[in-house]
Amino acid sequence: MSEISQLDPAERILMGPGPSNVPVRTLLALAAPTVGHLDPQYIQIMDETCALLRKVMRTENRLTFPISGTGMAGMETLAVNLLEPGDEAIVCINGVFGQRMQDVFQRCGATVHPVEAPWGETISAAAAARAVADHPHAKLLAIVHAETSTGAHQPLEEISSIVHQAGMLYLVDAVTSLGGQELQVDAWQIDAIYSGTQKCLSCPPGLAPVSFSERALAVMEARQSKVQSWYLDVSMLRNYYLSKTGGGGRAYHHTAPINMTYALREALRIVLEEGLEARVDRHRRMHQRLRAGLEELGLQYVPSSSLYGLNCVRVPKGVDEAAVRTQLLEQYGIEIGAGLGPFAGQAWRIGLMGHTCRQRNVDLVLTALRDTLV
Ligand SMILES: *Cc1c(COP(=O)(O)O)cnc(C)c1O
Repeated sequence: MSEISQLDPAERILMGPGPSNVPVRTLLALAAPTVGHLDPQYIQIMDETCALLRKVMRTENRLTFPISGTGMAGMETLAVNLLEPGDEAIVCINGVFGQRMQDVFQRCGATVHPVEAPWGETISAAAAARAVADHPHAKLLAIVHAETSTGAHQPLEEISSIVHQAGMLYLVDAVTSLGGQELQVDAWQIDAIYSGTQKCLSCPPGLAPVSFSERALAVMEARQSKVQSWYLDVSMLRNYYLSKTGGGGRAYHHTAPINMTYALREALRIVLEEGLEARVDRHRRMHQRLRAGLEELGLQYVPSSSLYGLNCVRVPKGVDEAAVRTQLLEQYGIEIGAGLGPFAGQAWRIGLMGHTCRQRNVDLVLTALRDTLV
């Protein structure tokens, strides 16, 4: 094996749809000594991590913890625990991640009623209200807060009250919004939510924070059938992640990713040190600076791409979009994202997430694009 050299990846400026750059403090946390997953020290670290998550998600939900897996494992956790075969679900689809929710929910044996909007647009409250009226037996409505495939920023509050008036659960994908856009789980009455670590939290990929309201918990407890996924079954996971009432011990389920928990804990500490509002404000200001610079270069945003952390712009006619991305990577060490689905070959996705979201990176990507496009 001597021909395989020591690991030495080149540093990149990660301005794609995730992962984002990771602060050194968070990388150093990964290197702390691995301890046992039932070691009292570790249980305390996990409890602290869950407490930090509640603060960042703005929720009092007891059932708030990181799933071992990336954002998609969070999506799958909500689906397998809240849906049973034969259930009906309303899924809002205006990009890749809404499509994925439909696929995951159908794999749980649910009948999905889609509410669709064209790619790049958001779902209107009127369309959600119509779907809820048309499908009164649906158990839940699921929606993506920050559609990373298009840059669409979905307003959540009005649809929340529509969903609750109909007695349904409200599920939200917050993978790209948590830590970069305003998000209030309790005030907006979100019943179940999942996120990921590598977007605006600026932690390496590998954990999926989730949170469930008491209403969602009651739905899970009333299940007729067993959760079909053993690994993601919240009824077992909660006996490990949360102390039982009366302070009982923790039941082994799977070995938690110890060092990833260290990293998430540090990443959340960094978020709260900055302050949630200040952090969203930084994302807003950097987005505005990038938007002004891109428009000055003659680049146009796709309609309603208004997320701070993900900027989706059209590739100008006659430009080889892949060649531009390659040049940015090779000459400047900057990674930006390609378009997905109907936007493949038509758009770039420029991420400004978490630790990457700084003026020097905004100015550098603008300079690099200016040089590359002429
Ligand atoms: C990235 C992303 C996911 C999937 O997360 P992974 O960590 O890639 O599994 C889900 N939803 C949205 C909106 C995302 O941006």
